[in-house]
Amino acid sequence: MRCDEAQELITALVDNELSHRERSSIESHLKDCPKCRSICEQERALRREIRIAGASVSAPADLREKILSDRRIFPEGAKSPKVWKGLLRPAWPVLRPAFALTLLVLLVLPILYLLIPTKQSIPLSALETHRKIVEGTISFVKVGSQQVVKEQLMRSVGGSFAPMGYDLSMMSLQAVGGMVQEVGGRTILVAIYEGKGPSLTCYTFLGTEEDAPAEASVFFDPEKKINFYTFSRAGVNEVFHREGKVICILVSKMPMGDLLALARSKAQPS
Ligand SMILES: [Zn+2]
Repeated sequence: MRCDEAQELITALVDNELSHRERSSIESHLKDCPKCRSICEQERALRREIRIAGASVSAPADLREKILSDRRIFPEGAKSPKVWKGLLRPAWPVLRPAFALTLLVLLVLPILYLLIPTKQSIPLSALETHRKIVEGTISFVKVGSQQVVKEQLMRSVGGSFAPMGYDLSMMSLQAVGGMVQEVGGRTILVAIYEGKGPSLTCYTFLGTEEDAPAEASVFFDPEKKINFYTFSRAGVNEVFHREGKVICILVSKMPMGDLLALARSKAQPS
């Protein structure tokens, strides 16, 4: 069996849908092929995550339709929507491997549509989302890999921009999940970091410095030539800056000095 043949059967293998003969031939291929074996392990791990998430997430019917008809998530002709209708039921029946990552985004999307605030600015809604994440009022799919969070978020905007994807491991913070939020018709990629200290939420979207909070203080970093806007409300701190067309907002309960230092150290002049 060749690798491409084996990889085509991996989903069915994980789902216990193979005939006895197919099963033994793929199993013998996996024994000798570390690459396919690792794909198979990833598939199983993903399936576990989806199962956990699926237990807690179920989308109302109209939301399902909205997600299913979103062409950013399901490009025209990608797969018959029937397959996806099945996926949105809590039972999670058949999956197709190429779409498994997309499914993670999909599980996250119910949050998106629940969150659209009326006329709020993005920096204010960022504070609000952060507060809800910390309180556990909104849940998200934990993926446990920085790379998966980044890819998943990028995919949700069709690759038009990428989340900052900061590596904050030196501060004992790990990216544990992502969300996509829409505020006033704009798409915000939300990456959630958790670790030893206060958690941190990183928002990325296409915008300008006019999106900065009106009440913010401005700090100009002469070395990086970037304006950093700082803003606090009810003990939650926010640092806003721009890199080219992309705006980054960091929100955390960590002291403002620390949060600003973090934003400055990670910011890349465009
Ligand atoms: Zn192989």
